[in-house]
Amino acid sequence: MGETLANQNLKLDKYSIGTGDRFARQAKAQLQACVQALKSGIEVVPVWNKSNREHTIIGSEPSSVRSAADAAVKALAWKLPYFCDADHITLETVDRFFAPCDFYTIDVADSIGRAADPAEITSFVNRHPELSGRVQMEGTDEVLEITPEHLTHTAQKFLAAVKKAGEIYRKIENAKGAGNFIPEVSMDETDRAQSPAELLIILAAIADEGIPVQTIAPKFSGRFNKGVDYVGDVSQFEREMALDVAAIAYAVRQYGLPRNLKLSIHSGSDKFSIYPAMYATMQKFDAGVHLKTAGTTWLEELIGLAEAGGEGLALAKEIYCEAFAHRDELCAPYATVIDIDPAKLPSPDAVRGWSSSQYTSALRHRTLRHRRGSAAYNSSLRQLLHVGFKVAAKMGKQYTDLLEANEAVIAKNVTENLYDRHIAPVFLGRGA
Ligand SMILES: [Zn+2]
Repeated sequence: MGETLANQNLKLDKYSIGTGDRFARQAKAQLQACVQALKSGIEVVPVWNKSNREHTIIGSEPSSVRSAADAAVKALAWKLPYFCDADHITLETVDRFFAPCDFYTIDVADSIGRAADPAEITSFVNRHPELSGRVQMEGTDEVLEITPEHLTHTAQKFLAAVKKAGEIYRKIENAKGAGNFIPEVSMDETDRAQSPAELLIILAAIADEGIPVQTIAPKFSGRFNKGVDYVGDVSQFEREMALDVAAIAYAVRQYGLPRNLKLSIHSGSDKFSIYPAMYATMQKFDAGVHLKTAGTTWLEELIGLAEAGGEGLALAKEIYCEAFAHRDELCAPYATVIDIDPAKLPSPDAVRGWSSSQYTSALRHRTLRHRRGSAAYNSSLRQLLHVGFKVAAKMGKQYTDLLEANEAVIAKNVTENLYDRHIAPVFLGRGA
């Protein structure tokens, strides 16, 4: 393979967790969860991610993510690597992420299905006879059966997207220099899941394109709604993930992709039902994972404020009431990744009368272990608040001042949530 694929100064570790911090106040509390993991004997490297969409809604700059991460690392004397992820960037949005970021989630989902040059498709198919027929992969008894028609059809579907990824990759490489950043290619924000065979073909194309990809984010089958549990067939997910991991190992050997290439699972947070399958698959294949969570830290801020009572609780209630009033507008950008039942949303009047514990038990997402006996948990309310961060952003200083005033109670919730509900089940196999 070309030199670029071997030239890696920056390497992403085997286990990493992507965390979002919408208001850039919780980096230390988030990092504390990784410190706790280290104490439990496992290295989980933090990656702070924030998409262009989030920056635009909040009115923040990518440099604020870098400052918050650097300050947290200094405060906790964190010695392992850490990264700032330009999450879901495109050719048009990447520029302002050059200076502060060292991890790029190159999003080419929009180019899936775009027509590629027929000559390029033919040359791709001819270059890869190993992909036609039965592809036997190590670690699994299953075989990928790829017919020549399937190979051509898959190339037609994904080649333009991979070319686009190459274009974006080279733009970043020009700005930062090869090896000075972690490239991820993401195809998760699309309608249809990619099969393991498609993933393998995509990886062959990525290698041809000369992208030293370290993480790849396919779309898995099932629903990955924001901030709530997985909806789908868990055993099917497990089989799919195992084949994806085997396909990655095959592609690393066959095409000279970076040896640390691993799956990036854009979980949308809180996929408690598939965490045991993720842990088991990593163990079985000795594979790593980048677990990208969504910005649910912001929900822990609300939980902390509600727990604090007084002004904090009052503001948390006001945020719900505003979010309820503007629910259509707030939900629109996230329509494909939320499932809110409007009939289940409590009325603002009801919420105004709530105690601290009524608010927190409606919002706090219980893990499998704790789910019984928490009838108050309301996934529609949780999803609405999850996408409702714009309301808090508009409150500006009023909101962030209260975050600072209640730092201790919020930080406790942020750390516990990240460690107990995500890191421990996924990376340590501790029952969620
Ligand atoms: Zn994603």
